Amino acid sequence: MYVYLNNAATTKTDGRVIFKMSKYYSELYENPMTSNYSPLAKNVEDEMEIARENVSKLINAKKEEIYFTSGGTESDNWAIKGVALSNWDKKGEIISIPIEHMAIIKTLETVKKWGFEIKFLPVDKYGMVNPDDLKKLITKKTLLVSIMHANNEIGTIEPIEEIGKICKENGVLFHTDAVQSACHIDIDVNKMNIDLLSISAHKFYGPKGVGALFIRNGVKIEPFMDGGHQENELRSGTHNSPGIIGLGEAVKIAMNEMEEERKSLIFMRKMIEDRINKIEGININGHPEKRLPNNLSITIDRVNAETMLTYLAINGIIVSAGAACSAKEKSPSHVLKAIGLSDELAHNTLRISLGKFNLVKEIEYFNEVFEYGVKRFREMAPK
Ligand SMILES: *Cc1c(COP(=O)(O)O)cnc(C)c1O
Repeated sequence: MYVYLNNAATTKTDGRVIFKMSKYYSELYENPMTSNYSPLAKNVEDEMEIARENVSKLINAKKEEIYFTSGGTESDNWAIKGVALSNWDKKGEIISIPIEHMAIIKTLETVKKWGFEIKFLPVDKYGMVNPDDLKKLITKKTLLVSIMHANNEIGTIEPIEEIGKICKENGVLFHTDAVQSACHIDIDVNKMNIDLLSISAHKFYGPKGVGALFIRNGVKIEPFMDGGHQENELRSGTHNSPGIIGLGEAVKIAMNEMEEERKSLIFMRKMIEDRINKIEGININGHPEKRLPNNLSITIDRVNAETMLTYLAINGIIVSAGAACSAKEKSPSHVLKAIGLSDELAHNTLRISLGKFNLVKEIEYFNEVFEYGVKRFREMAPK
């Protein structure tokens, strides 16, 4: 059996999405130019606009507020650097949290070198921000708050609505990295007072290398890519039209099936949780209730995650130790450190992330293999 439980890193592309996209590589390969007289180009244009509309409906935005990008990393870079660039003369401060994805953390480091001040809010042992802390930290110099919707390592969902409200009251822009949450849990950019929001197709069964940035009408942001005039002159480069159309299809499918998928993911996650709870010395990380349906981060006493990962892989089960992006790094995850795990416990932490293609029988298989592994490794480990 081959069991993929690393859906927070990337997902399998839905067959319906691939079917939809394939035509735009073969017959309908032309650029979607409104000025073009080609009926094929018109078709591409129309389908791309349907994709834009789907994304806007997903988050309750307007169609013209959606800009297509090459994925989550680009959207995060653009949101922060774009706002910084448009405040180049007066500079100012940006507030974020220490458990953001590296696409945010590294971007903030760059913007700091540009002369902007970066402040981090603390998070509690669940990785949760306290909105009152934000109230205290915001000053007249604050330009932007960037706080993720849901964390990719531990699954905690941040109090985005309260944060959005505080930002609005203080006239500060609010960006959220919604790469883990989009198409998995509900988002409403108006109810949540969000000004900028990043999504990525490959995290919800769409193609890799395509995403979007929501930019609320009226937000001052500089382009991140200079070149042609695509995307309202704000994001140049030939459109990845098959990718964008695939993204739109993945969003459409999610809007229809999200509720059902959520139930089945929670059911399967509970299957693992119930089994884990019967084994001593395993702790579940992240918030107990305010969490993504598919994410399970666990710390296993006296079992090294790398060893467990190898053993599971030999048995055809793919999970991750910490974040996928930092798998090559030896230092423990910044997220696990920020929630107070010691280096040793961080090294004993595994992330299991489920997806809609997982089957109950795969979870049963995982439970058997996992429980046996924990028992064996503990027998071998020094006390
Ligand atoms: C995966 C991920 C990203 C990066 O998205 P890409 O499309 O892979 O560039 C950013 N933020 C979070 C929270 C993610 O999980």
